[in-house]
Amino acid sequence: PDAKAYEEAQKRLKVAEEDQKTMVPELRKKSRREYLAKRERDKLEELEAEIADEEYLFGEEALTGAERRELEYKRRVRDLAREYKRAGEKEKLEKSNRYYIPEETRGKKIPEREETTGGEEERMAPRDEQRRWEEERIGAASLRFGARDAARRQPPKDYDFVLEEDEMIQFVSAVQMKGTEPDKEVAAPVPEAERRRQSAQEVRRSLPIFPYRDELVAAIARHQILVIEGETGSGKTTQIPQYLHEEGYTRQGLKIGITQPRRVAAMSVAARVAVEMGTKLGNEVGYSIRFEDCTSERTVLKYMTDGMLLREFLTEPDLGSYSVIMVDEAHERTLHTDVLFGLIKDIARFRPQLKVLVASATLDTQRFSAFFDQAPVFRIPGRRFPVDIYYTKAPEADYLEACVVSVLQIHVTQPPGDILVFLTGQVPLQEEIEACVELLQERCRRLGSRLAELLVLPIYANLPSDMQARIFEPTPPGARKVVVATNIAETSVTIDGIVYVLDPGFCKQKSYSARTGMESLVVTPCSRASANQRAGRAGRVAPGKCFRLYTAWAFQHELEETPVPEIQRADLGSLVLLLKSLGINDLIHFDFLDPPPHETLVLALEQLYALGALNHLGELTTVLGALGGTGMVVVGPMGELTTVLGALGGTGMVVVGPMGELTTVLGALGGTGMVVVGPMGELTTLGRRMAELPVEPMLAKMILASEQYGCTEEVLTVAAMLSVNNAIFYRPKDKVLHADSARLGFHVPGGDHLVLLNVYNQWVASGHSLQWCYEHFVQARSLRRARDVREQLEGLMERVEVAPSSCAGDYGPVRKAITAGFFYHTARLTRGGYRTVKHQQTVFIHPNSSLFEEQPRWVLYHELVFTTKEFMRQVIEIDSGWLLEVAPHYYQAKE
Ligand code: ADP
Ligand code: MG
Repeated sequence: PDAKAYEEAQKRLKVAEEDQKTMVPELRKKSRREYLAKRERDKLEELEAEIADEEYLFGEEALTGAERRELEYKRRVRDLAREYKRAGEKEKLEKSNRYYIPEETRGKKIPEREETTGGEEERMAPRDEQRRWEEERIGAASLRFGARDAARRQPPKDYDFVLEEDEMIQFVSAVQMKGTEPDKEVAAPVPEAERRRQSAQEVRRSLPIFPYRDELVAAIARHQILVIEGETGSGKTTQIPQYLHEEGYTRQGLKIGITQPRRVAAMSVAARVAVEMGTKLGNEVGYSIRFEDCTSERTVLKYMTDGMLLREFLTEPDLGSYSVIMVDEAHERTLHTDVLFGLIKDIARFRPQLKVLVASATLDTQRFSAFFDQAPVFRIPGRRFPVDIYYTKAPEADYLEACVVSVLQIHVTQPPGDILVFLTGQVPLQEEIEACVELLQERCRRLGSRLAELLVLPIYANLPSDMQARIFEPTPPGARKVVVATNIAETSVTIDGIVYVLDPGFCKQKSYSARTGMESLVVTPCSRASANQRAGRAGRVAPGKCFRLYTAWAFQHELEETPVPEIQRADLGSLVLLLKSLGINDLIHFDFLDPPPHETLVLALEQLYALGALNHLGELTTVLGALGGTGMVVVGPMGELTTVLGALGGTGMVVVGPMGELTTVLGALGGTGMVVVGPMGELTTLGRRMAELPVEPMLAKMILASEQYGCTEEVLTVAAMLSVNNAIFYRPKDKVLHADSARLGFHVPGGDHLVLLNVYNQWVASGHSLQWCYEHFVQARSLRRARDVREQLEGLMERVEVAPSSCAGDYGPVRKAITAGFFYHTARLTRGGYRTVKHQQTVFIHPNSSLFEEQPRWVLYHELVFTTKEFMRQVIEIDSGWLLEVAPHYYQAKE
């Protein structure tokens, strides 16, 4: 059957190949536009339906706080989508206004939009408010950017070839972000060329933090906890640990630990500090990120992700080997950083010698100070040149395309200076940064020598480190550098030489719905605080310009003031498991800077309970004792309550749930039952073992369950491959069909996890051959990473007392083990697609899946991603009978 399927696929590919050959590039461009427009429409329709459901079906009053916030959020996204849709529909109509500048007005003031003579439709458009507001702000300063430049009045001939006028994006200048006042103590920034000649030591002395070295060191000596605030690039991350090292804080084998929210930042900053200290990375200066430890016995400055320091509490609860902990980028408010605050505050009480530094960009520092019992704040005066801020005149429907055009526009119209573009990184299935880099490179190739050299460099988390290092290399004379970055360039890393910032105004955010129990990565508008940080990047070496690919109205009305802390929008499963294994049982009263939503916490507890990581004992036994010791503990959202009540005959219930629901529960119980709100459940042996593995709870459960099914070797491989799964296969543009057919060649019955296993095993059989990877369109780098992850996990097996076993090619046990971990993620085929078992959500198998055409009755998925629809990614077929077998306590209650 394999061979037949393969043959058929080959045939289909042939047809597609022919199709593609005949497709003219123009047509492709058009269909891409249509595709994007359609995507907007679909999203909008879906949103409208969801909102209507919540508004009319459930009624807004019935929603809990978090749900209401979610609804609010949806409404905002909907309004935004409507706006974009309108912009798209009006595109033709407005083309002359939006992009086209008639020959005779080139270089002159753009005529104001004719407000009063606008047609009926124009006047009715809700954007009027926006337009009025903008007009007010902008006044007569409505110039196309670059037009002010006298030299541009007579554009060079080539100009027309480079960009067609109707393609150009029209920006309006709105405000100027003031630079900092000249500071006597701070030397002027060193020009790029000179900087290149300077030694690392000289550069160190030129940083804004340098004049404050002694004062800072003294403040640290005087106070146990110090909040440090400073403009990005002033030297906090790279310098402070070195100062403390010089001051002897690393004597007697003690270390300085510095946390970073992002892996790339930890690596790149450690690399920089190693250069400054003249040592090899991994010796005195090292870094530690998940699945990669680049430190040694000699390491005294340890840069690490916040998640790694959190895990260190498991082996060293008092962090006794550290003399200083610096929680850097505190303003990012990642989940792990937020939890570290609570834990570190706690250990600082009984370790008076431990120094705690909380470093942040110029945001939120008062809150940090207040949280750490009014710790003093040390301000490092930064220096920044003024930055002119520009907005687009109208919303852009396709911001990726707008980015590409704007970069070229800047390149041809603006004086020298590098460009920084903020995109959203590797959203599953849609790799924006790569796409943008490719588009830019392609266009530059086409334009050839008509354009000055443009170096296009990406930076994001999975980029190999040698590529990462390239963004810091000085730009060669005559060329211009474009760095296409994720948020990481907002505050975590500083790239010298940036004069122009391009900000589409989006970021990738985790969002978690307590109602559906689903976590997803979504692209959302960034906050005003982020937008201003981004703009600030343009003014480090000279007066800069920031081009925002949204309107001034949108900035004021569509962006939040500050981002929502991650703890309030993330799945808390891993975290709860970790805290429980640190002996922190009372999660409700844990010292959080901002507590997580109660619903999310309860859901995490429920999930861990279902996985068998927690039992129903703990503090509740005392309560139960007081009640006479009978009865059952149910952790769960209300939906499940009635079922359980029925099964129990409605007696002796203890319900743990969010506060809002209590009255209802009491009612249902006839007001007699006892209701306990609070943390519950003790860590079971299984839970303790799960916490030892640095992977999310469901994956950990899957690994541990594999022992029982005699397939640990296979399941470890699956787990490792899943952790790099976004980047296993690649499709070079010119060999799409070959790549796809190579991929089909890996298909095995049963589903995608097994395909991943197959790829890995074949790679091992090839002797880890690079040639093999090349021929099969598989990313060698990802497989090597999978091997590293696998080795690490394998190394932990002894610790969790799992003996190795293999099922030798029989995939049944592997699928069962996967089910034991992911039984929450199951879906059943219905007429209108699949329905998830837990939340009755409609979902679909992703077209990339090996099961796309089979559509089995029962499936299990690794994750859901939302693109045009809610898609399941990495899917296997399961037998519904297994569910009872692997999670009887969970599924019996459901029946
Ligand atoms: P802060 O933490 O206050 O934002 P940093 O310590 O990160 O500041 O940066 C100080 C200086 O070090 C900046 O001028 C930056 O350009 C330089 N720098 C940081 N990382 C690197 C790197 N990987 N390569 C080259 N220079 C770097
Ligand atoms: Mg920093």
